[in-house]
Amino acid sequence: MHTGGTYRGRFAPSPTGDLHLGCAATALVTWMAAREAGGRLVLRVEDIDTPRIVAGSIDRQLEDLRWLGLDWDEGPGEGGSFAPYAQSERFARYEEAIARLAADDLLYHCDCSRAEIARVASAPHLGEEGPRYPGLCREKGLTQREWKRAPATRIRVPDRDVSIDDRFLGPLTQNVASDVGDFVLKRGDGIYSYQLAVVVDDLAMEITEAVRGADLLGSAPRQVVLAELLGGHAPSFAHAPLVLAADGERLAKRARGVPLRDHREAGRSPEELVAVLARTLGLIEADDPRVRLEPGDLLGERRLDRLRGRREAPLMLRGAV
Ligand code: GLU
Repeated sequence: MHTGGTYRGRFAPSPTGDLHLGCAATALVTWMAAREAGGRLVLRVEDIDTPRIVAGSIDRQLEDLRWLGLDWDEGPGEGGSFAPYAQSERFARYEEAIARLAADDLLYHCDCSRAEIARVASAPHLGEEGPRYPGLCREKGLTQREWKRAPATRIRVPDRDVSIDDRFLGPLTQNVASDVGDFVLKRGDGIYSYQLAVVVDDLAMEITEAVRGADLLGSAPRQVVLAELLGGHAPSFAHAPLVLAADGERLAKRARGVPLRDHREAGRSPEELVAVLARTLGLIEADDPRVRLEPGDLLGERRLDRLRGRREAPLMLRGAV
């Protein structure tokens, strides 16, 4: 955990489509946390998963965030001393981290099946992770030359408990070795894993708190372990409630009514949508009469404390999804 120094938060959208209301809710919380701390907010584009990237979607997402009234201090359009802020331009840093871990004899190549390692470039949202990796290739090291397929690179994780104290969800302890197993840092096709890129960038950008959706809580212990093996400390974590459709389904699984743009184009104002997000997250009471809010209206009253203990938030938007 970080002590002292200036608060540095980050919002890290993936350009895989239009910004949906769940991501917009997380962006609002991230923005509030940075502004209330008097710190800096970094906008980092998580575009390593090249096959999933939708051309032009990052510009549309950033435009939607600005339209909502959210701003950032470093990143696209703002520059900053930790540039570049797009992961696709940071491969040399990921390679350096891999070289460092390899020098410490912590890595090995693994040619287990593709299905098992296919997902690793995307953040593993709740329910998307496969079983624990059983360590089949653990003793292989990095020098073997004969492979069934182009090998992925895995890290040998230490067999010990790690703990986090999440700002909203409280304490969590996990033994990564027994729960997840040695995880992938780089796929056989050369794509870096979400876990590696996030940890390297959070360290390099001196992020002090990672605010994101509660569906990524399960990644936090891995990120603590990896940051330590890289000689640093992971940020503290603040996992905000995951916004669900009113019937409980994950928004990411919905096609219609979920992108912020649908509501924008249907004539809703940014202030109406900020009020919807605030009510959904419980930042304001469900019966609060205000139907329009600017992000700044939510600051200064310890409203983020209301997110404690809540993993899910059904979308409070009548007639939409
Ligand atoms: N880029 C990730 C996502 O879109 C967020 C990762 C993070 O905040 O650690 O889900």
